[in-house]
Amino acid sequence: MKRTYDVIVIGAGSMGMAAGAFLARQNADVLLIDAFDPPHTNGSHHGDTRMIRHAYGEGKKYVPLVLRAQKLWHELEEETGSRLFERTGVLGLGNAESAFLQEEIASAKEFSLPLEVLSADEIRRRWPGIHVSDEMIGAFEPDSGLLYSEACIRAYRDVALRHGAELLTHTRADAIDCHADSVTVRTTKGEFHAARLIVTAGAWTGTLFPELSLPVRPFRKTAVWYEADESQYGLGKLPSYFMDLPGQRFYGFPSIAGSGLKVGSHDAGKDVDPDQVDRRFGAEPDDEGELAGIVERFFPGVSRRVKKGQVCLVTWTPDHDFIIDRHPEHAHVLLLSACSAHGFKFASAIGEIAMQMALFGNSQMDMSAFSLRRFR
Ligand SMILES: Cc1cc2nc3c(=O)[nH]c(=O)nc-3n(C[C@H](O)[C@H](O)[C@H](O)COP(=O)(O)OP(=O)(O)OC[C@H]3O[C@@H](n4cnc5c(N)ncnc54)[C@H](O)[C@@H]3O)c2cc1C
Repeated sequence: MKRTYDVIVIGAGSMGMAAGAFLARQNADVLLIDAFDPPHTNGSHHGDTRMIRHAYGEGKKYVPLVLRAQKLWHELEEETGSRLFERTGVLGLGNAESAFLQEEIASAKEFSLPLEVLSADEIRRRWPGIHVSDEMIGAFEPDSGLLYSEACIRAYRDVALRHGAELLTHTRADAIDCHADSVTVRTTKGEFHAARLIVTAGAWTGTLFPELSLPVRPFRKTAVWYEADESQYGLGKLPSYFMDLPGQRFYGFPSIAGSGLKVGSHDAGKDVDPDQVDRRFGAEPDDEGELAGIVERFFPGVSRRVKKGQVCLVTWTPDHDFIIDRHPEHAHVLLLSACSAHGFKFASAIGEIAMQMALFGNSQMDMSAFSLRRFR
């Protein structure tokens, strides 16, 4: 195997595999290095499904990025013949004062996105399996939905390899030596060199640049699938959903081919070291936490029987926004952490942006909101 490349990507998960595919399509000589064999269950991308919302409660600045991402997911489906996106619609529930819902509604207006604001009565009429109290409203986006996350990574992996990228699995990058115009990556399988480096290491991002003290914190999070009647809670019957409740947000997906209704908490979780974390669901006493209560309150027809539970890692920044920037002292090194539990949907667009920044010096979209300078 070769030892010198145009670009090395450390971390071939959600963002890195997409970056690898975009780079390889441009005929760049690219090496993808991953500690596991993506998709896998050790990082942030497993668990079947990830939500893609267009009108964005986290801030309007994300809307152009998510619209570009949606287009690129469709193109990837066409190119690979894989089913990656399901247009389930996304229903947001909360009180009318919910700042998150209000931002979502405002961003739909600003970008002319289809979004229906529904009363509690309208929600009950439309989805009889959902129970909401009278003061709640719904914000329904009919064109949004879910992505099959592992299938997305598999599809980008196929594209990257088909266009000549090399993928080194089960290989951990232990250290990076940055030179004036190149890098050396030291791994468990020897040293590799490249003119440019992209680091998309997810929950491990902070470990690769100890000198930068990046403000990224990995958390252990769980999701649970509850046994559910598909005629009421299955794909095509129930939208993907989230609830913005005072102090906490929950989210989930319809039952897909017998999977069960998926429920997770956006905020709960425990600070962990990604190399030490116990990835077995049930290893911690509060792994189910408040999820059964959420099912009981909002989906009275769903059983409390857990079909499956899973542990996943999320990486938080203090403001819950992403990091998409160059290393402050080495412009040929890119750091990308699209994290804080809402990054997956953007992976296609961020892969394209990483390619543009690495090969052409700049991206077509303005990434200044995600710069490292905001933490200094
Ligand atoms: C439970 C849960 C629910 C979520 N729900 C949503 C959602 O509904 N919608 C949404 O948009 N987002 C969601 N997210 C967030 C989204 O999944 C993440 O933001 C996204 O997967 C992060 O991608 P990544 O490439 O940074 O990390 P990953 O996909 O984990 O990739 C990082 C890769 O780097 C590799 N790696 C790390 N260190 C090294 C090293 N030193 N050497 C070699 N390889 C290394 C790892 O093996 C891994 O493959 C959710 C996350 C979780 C955990």
